[in-house]
Amino acid sequence: MANCAIVGINWGDEGKGRMVDLLTEDYDVVVRFQGGGNAGHTVVNDKGKFALHLLPSGIFRDGVVNILGNGVALDPESFVREMQNVTEKGVSLTPENLKISDRASLLLPWHRDLDALEEMRLADKQYGSTKQGIAPFYSDKYQKKTILAGELFYPEELRSHLKDLMEWKNLTLTRVYNAPAVTMEDLEAWLKNACEKIKPFICDTGEVLKEAQKNGKRILFEAQLGSLRDLDFGIIPYTTSSNTIAAYAPIGAGCPSLKVDDIVGVVKAYSTCVGEGPFVCEMFGEEADKLREAGDEFGATTHRPRRVGPLDIVATRYGVEVQGATEIALTKLDILSSMEQIPVCTHYIVNGVKTDRFPFPTLLNSAEPVIEYFDGWMTDISGVRRFEDLPAAAQRYIKYVEEQIACPITYVSVGPERESIILRK
Ligand code: GDP
Repeated sequence: MANCAIVGINWGDEGKGRMVDLLTEDYDVVVRFQGGGNAGHTVVNDKGKFALHLLPSGIFRDGVVNILGNGVALDPESFVREMQNVTEKGVSLTPENLKISDRASLLLPWHRDLDALEEMRLADKQYGSTKQGIAPFYSDKYQKKTILAGELFYPEELRSHLKDLMEWKNLTLTRVYNAPAVTMEDLEAWLKNACEKIKPFICDTGEVLKEAQKNGKRILFEAQLGSLRDLDFGIIPYTTSSNTIAAYAPIGAGCPSLKVDDIVGVVKAYSTCVGEGPFVCEMFGEEADKLREAGDEFGATTHRPRRVGPLDIVATRYGVEVQGATEIALTKLDILSSMEQIPVCTHYIVNGVKTDRFPFPTLLNSAEPVIEYFDGWMTDISGVRRFEDLPAAAQRYIKYVEEQIACPITYVSVGPERESIILRK
């Protein structure tokens, strides 16, 4: 079977974790290739309900090798906490089923502080950061001012490198932000309490992937967030600081020559967006509250209420294009079951002109949505397992979306559980 990437088509939180959890059965290796602990996947399975941040969703399946590639932002402190959370619920993590790239850069203790300090400086112009240090981390990575996970194996050189970085970073902390300086004692504690615990999992994951490819193993790439949060193609600056698109998967995974044959784009049956920035199709008031409650739309990591809206065809079509999606998983269709009329954003009005093209970020601020209403089905569909058994109105909705975004909807998810899925292959 071919390699596959599971990616978000919109603003993130589309239900990628649920799809990866479902599909890992068919794959031998699951790789996280970008992002950090700033977002979360929620997975519900026979072991319980898990909010995963950095751990690949394949950790629940026996025999699956899970990899954190060089493209991720590896925060040793929060990763150790995440490992503890899942092992406490009976999930086993060993150097055999979890491998961290020796080329992954470490998110350093000052990155979180800098994130919060900069958001504070921005005041009412905040980017809506989750303050997990992701933006300062990736900026420093591009400046080549971070530590690679593999450096933990060279303690002497590591300390000298850390000291240099600390002296450099303290200039910014103390002189730009008037914040306390970091000390070598702080860093020693960080090495002992967090880094030592991840060390057994660090290895050359590029080799693991090459070997897997040679032996015909099937590789699944698991993305964080969605197309509109991509650093290059998203709604800048309200993006994340890494590339969330499938084209980046082989690079961030650690084996640039790998091919991604199949790209499953995950689209939610309505829209949600966390944080600041333009969200053209946003709904407000009671209608929005109802949808938010029905879909339990509160951040997995931050618990922030998500902004909600109808499915946005304009943004979704763009998301499908930049991901190069070959098929779509439409999730949370069951959440629309209590709506008499289902709104869909079909076009934007930009500068008085109706368009179906996703505009340049600057124009999004003044764009207005064009909303059309479809008949609802007003019946519980969470037990349906075949497309033909869905109410006619639900079938029409799916076919309409499929036609508009020009990509086949091969999975329809009607509940968070592994088995609550309709296959349309
Ligand atoms: P991710 O980051 O893309 O994995 O998305 P999140 O984990 O933030 O959000 C997905 C949430 O929706 C999780 O709580 C899932 O358990 C839940 N979920 C996923 N698919 C469905 C579905 O089809 N129906 C319902 N009711 N919940 C779903």
